[in-house]
Amino acid sequence: MNSSDHNHGGPTSPLRPAARHASPGATLPLAVRVEALEEDLVGIVGRPNVLSDAELRAPYEVDWTRRFAGRCAMVARPGSTAEVAAVLAACCARGVSVVPQGGNTGLVGASVPPDDSGTCVVVSTRRLSKIDPIDKAASQVTVGAGVTLAALQNAAAAEGFAFPVDLAARDSATVGGMVATNAGGLHVIRYGAMRQRVLGVEAVLADGTVISHLGGLLKDNTGYDLSQLLVGSEGTLAIITAIRVSLVPETPHRAVALLGLESTSRALDVIDKLRANLPGLQAAELFFEDGLALVRSHARLGPPLARAYPVYLLVEVAGRVDCTDDLLNALTVLDLPEDAAAIGVDTSTVTKLWEYRERHTEAVSAIGIPHKLDVTLPQSHLPRFEKDLRSLLAGRFPEATLVLFGHAGDGNLHVNVVGPDPNDDAVDEAVLTLVASFGGSISAEHGIGRAKARWLGLSRSASEITAMKAIKAALDPYGILNPAALFAGA
Ligand SMILES: Cc1cc2nc3c(=O)[nH]c(=O)nc-3n(C[C@H](O)[C@H](O)[C@H](O)COP(=O)(O)OP(=O)(O)OC[C@H]3O[C@@H](n4cnc5c(N)ncnc54)[C@H](O)[C@@H]3O)c2cc1C
Repeated sequence: MNSSDHNHGGPTSPLRPAARHASPGATLPLAVRVEALEEDLVGIVGRPNVLSDAELRAPYEVDWTRRFAGRCAMVARPGSTAEVAAVLAACCARGVSVVPQGGNTGLVGASVPPDDSGTCVVVSTRRLSKIDPIDKAASQVTVGAGVTLAALQNAAAAEGFAFPVDLAARDSATVGGMVATNAGGLHVIRYGAMRQRVLGVEAVLADGTVISHLGGLLKDNTGYDLSQLLVGSEGTLAIITAIRVSLVPETPHRAVALLGLESTSRALDVIDKLRANLPGLQAAELFFEDGLALVRSHARLGPPLARAYPVYLLVEVAGRVDCTDDLLNALTVLDLPEDAAAIGVDTSTVTKLWEYRERHTEAVSAIGIPHKLDVTLPQSHLPRFEKDLRSLLAGRFPEATLVLFGHAGDGNLHVNVVGPDPNDDAVDEAVLTLVASFGGSISAEHGIGRAKARWLGLSRSASEITAMKAIKAALDPYGILNPAALFAGA
């Protein structure tokens, strides 16, 4: 492992954890250990970076959806890898559990304290915000885990590159959080998810050990790929402190079409045809008449098309030169009615058209606390799944409002159900069981977290879960890292 001092510290720093091999001092009562830990952490990150007042802790204790909340003893805000290492070593030595947190935009309840006991520590990575100079020859850059997606995108654009994973929470979501959740987003059909962009990570294990592999070599078959193991690990195996990512050439010219269609099957047919004719296709987003009505009323937007359609598909193409003609030519072969497409080619119209899709998440949250179920289906099953889902909810949960949208180009639907009590899991169980019956995955891109831990077995076999638990036990033998995430009752 090559190590780095990306975040102004490292294994050779004076802050190197002294208690690396100490076992949790579980002999004292937890309350006593937590009190002692506060002094430890103040000694490591300084008093201003240990938040123990209720008011200061509050934003770190509730998730973006407001469905998941808890209480922690304190929030620690380390400013370097060495400080993260010392914080984890101290927590491990005191036997106190840790919830890693980046931008707190996660949607499965894994970034906040799991209960009201006030005994865990939230470790916020937001101060790990350094962006190294871009390595232009390699099209790579190393960034701190607390760098926001928007900051990375801006830094890349300033040098003629793009970081192509994109999502609506870009101003708050951190690169570390996106690695930890293997975030997908809007451009997966062209560029893949975070996993495809990660070339290496620096991270701190539960006992404070730093592992660092930020060389960015494209060919590097030297044993287990620990960086990729941490992609999608949801803060259960290590705290990621820095990431080496690959960039792509900037594609400054964008063109967008919002299409009104008669059915989900027709939308899939359109995606197939556009894929074949448009190499620059980078987004194919699906939403429905009822979701659009909700967004329009929430965001006070006018209608996108002259008349309403049951289904809408937003497609985006991007290139190094103007790609408007490519898009228009590809649309011609679809034989759509004249008034069924709105086209955007300048920044303002493109942004306006995207609003109809991107503002779904906030519009849903404005009508209540949603059950958010992010799932993938084999693409050909999407129409049948949609039909069965609507009749399942109408029959068993008549009080429910369903808002369905998603990244249809990769079979990913966001199932949002508002109405049933947020603490009642019956609707989650019903929807996820239906997904499994279609051979789908119960988590497409948000992760398992707390929200879906009970149903991991719907998508992973017993032997897979046993192997995953063995990895967790090897890297975090005392189970202090995000203990409520991923495995139910772990
Ligand atoms: C409006 C909106 C739109 C969204 N759109 C999408 C989308 O299109 N695609 C998509 O995939 N997601 C989407 N999300 C979900 C969310 O933005 C992603 O899951 C994102 O990756 C979370 O990043 P974060 O920094 O906010 O992580 P957090 O919410 O802080 O944490 C998420 C998880 O990662 C862990 N974690 C965070 N940082 C670290 C670290 N440095 N080391 C180890 N573990 C860590 C946490 O413990 C937790 O388990 C959306 C969210 C919102 C609010």
